[in-house]
Amino acid sequence: MTQAINSTQALYRCLPAMDSLLLIPQVISFIEQQGKPWIKSLLAQMLKDARQQIAKSQSLPSWCLDSSQIAEELACRIVSAQRQSMTPVINLTGTILHTNLGRSQMCEAAINAVTQVMRSPVPLEFDMGQGKRGHRDSAISALIHELTGADSCCIVNNNAAAVLLMLAAISAGKEVIVSRGELVEIGGAFRIPDIMAQAGCKLVEVGCTNRTHLKDYAAAINDNTAAIMKVHTSNYHISGFTKVTEELELAALCKEQGIALISDLGSGALTDLSRFGLSKEPMPQQMLSDGVNLVSFSGDKLLGGPQAGLVVGDAELIAKLQAHPLKRALRCDKMTLAALEATLMQYRNPQALHSLLPIFRKLSRPLAELKALSLQLRASCSIQQTQFDITIKPCQTQVGSGSQPDVLLDSVALCFSSKVNSQLSVLQLDKFFKAVNLPIIGRITANQLWLDLRGTDNDAQLIEALTTSLIDFEQAHINTLATSASVEVTL
Ligand SMILES: *Cc1c(COP(=O)(O)O)cnc(C)c1O
Repeated sequence: MTQAINSTQALYRCLPAMDSLLLIPQVISFIEQQGKPWIKSLLAQMLKDARQQIAKSQSLPSWCLDSSQIAEELACRIVSAQRQSMTPVINLTGTILHTNLGRSQMCEAAINAVTQVMRSPVPLEFDMGQGKRGHRDSAISALIHELTGADSCCIVNNNAAAVLLMLAAISAGKEVIVSRGELVEIGGAFRIPDIMAQAGCKLVEVGCTNRTHLKDYAAAINDNTAAIMKVHTSNYHISGFTKVTEELELAALCKEQGIALISDLGSGALTDLSRFGLSKEPMPQQMLSDGVNLVSFSGDKLLGGPQAGLVVGDAELIAKLQAHPLKRALRCDKMTLAALEATLMQYRNPQALHSLLPIFRKLSRPLAELKALSLQLRASCSIQQTQFDITIKPCQTQVGSGSQPDVLLDSVALCFSSKVNSQLSVLQLDKFFKAVNLPIIGRITANQLWLDLRGTDNDAQLIEALTTSLIDFEQAHINTLATSASVEVTL
């Protein structure tokens, strides 16, 4: 016992002192490149890890032995700390608009626009000679007017913020009527009743889960009613004995009663999606022409732009939103606005959207192309590895982000399953694919790793990433086998 303590003490004494670490020539040069505070904190962490190792396993980390190994360990830690966490991945999960993977990919025009405004000052709220000082949403307002006919618009960080602002600005302290069939939870704690409470308005529920009639809404209106709100049930579908009161009827009622009709559309497709094989999604322009006063929708769902929330509609109501203190808290920066403006401009030519916007490029890609790609991939992968069987299977892609929950698009997957005599599982393969430089994210079902090819937007990049990952996996696997073999020999 005493001996063990003594030897542990001896190990602690082997650890170099910070002062001596700072005198190692390579460390000095790291300090020159990176600054002293950060390098010193990395060294302190190395010493802390070493002390923990001594306490836990009575051993020294191997880097303690000499100054060149100390410098090498430090170099590794510098490289790993400098690796950015937000780097590209290939989304082959079978969900195109994957919220956890950042939803929409931007079109090239948006990427260029953002890069430019990042590098230089821009007239975000600056009078360039057209008269009054513009607000930061003016440029988009003009485009939105062109595309949807809306008088005006207000842009905030996401659609959840848009709904909050819309309610706070036009109905705080008052009642808002919503159908019981539309009390939606979007996920991530966005529930219509909670948002109502946060906005300071009183939710008045009418109708039933499956049926709400015009007369239900009419009976709930009183002197304290500010608005009727419609919520698009974007992530679920009620079928069977149902009745939804349409915007057109509600608009007439609201007009007569002098209250507002507002709508949370969710996805907000600006073009008819049936041309991409999707079902028809209610469009903001249709809502406005039906007489809805304000419509809100996301920028990064079926619009294919940056994360943003757009409220479009009557100028008078939009002015209230623009003047509300929450707008200042929820407003977008120049990068988002530049990306949104560039994305919206693509909608001037709906025929070209399937080639210009990545979301539509993916959704409309012909099955035959995906089949050809799968054959190419299987051919180039099969040579690289010995552990997995690769098969090509039909699969179905979902749009995602609560958009079009009923729609599944035919697609093709590359499926990996362990060969009969393989010691390696698809779980290991999946883990490896997620750890490489350009991670490939698939989905594991029934002991198979599925890579849904509709998710790729760059075939050459995918072929390269998959083949090199498989080579590296084999290599790592050979090393593992070699190590376990040598351990066996030693034992
Ligand atoms: C997605 C969605 C939201 C939330 O939009 P975000 O842009 O994710 O904040 C709100 N309402 C509906 C109906 C939605 O579908």
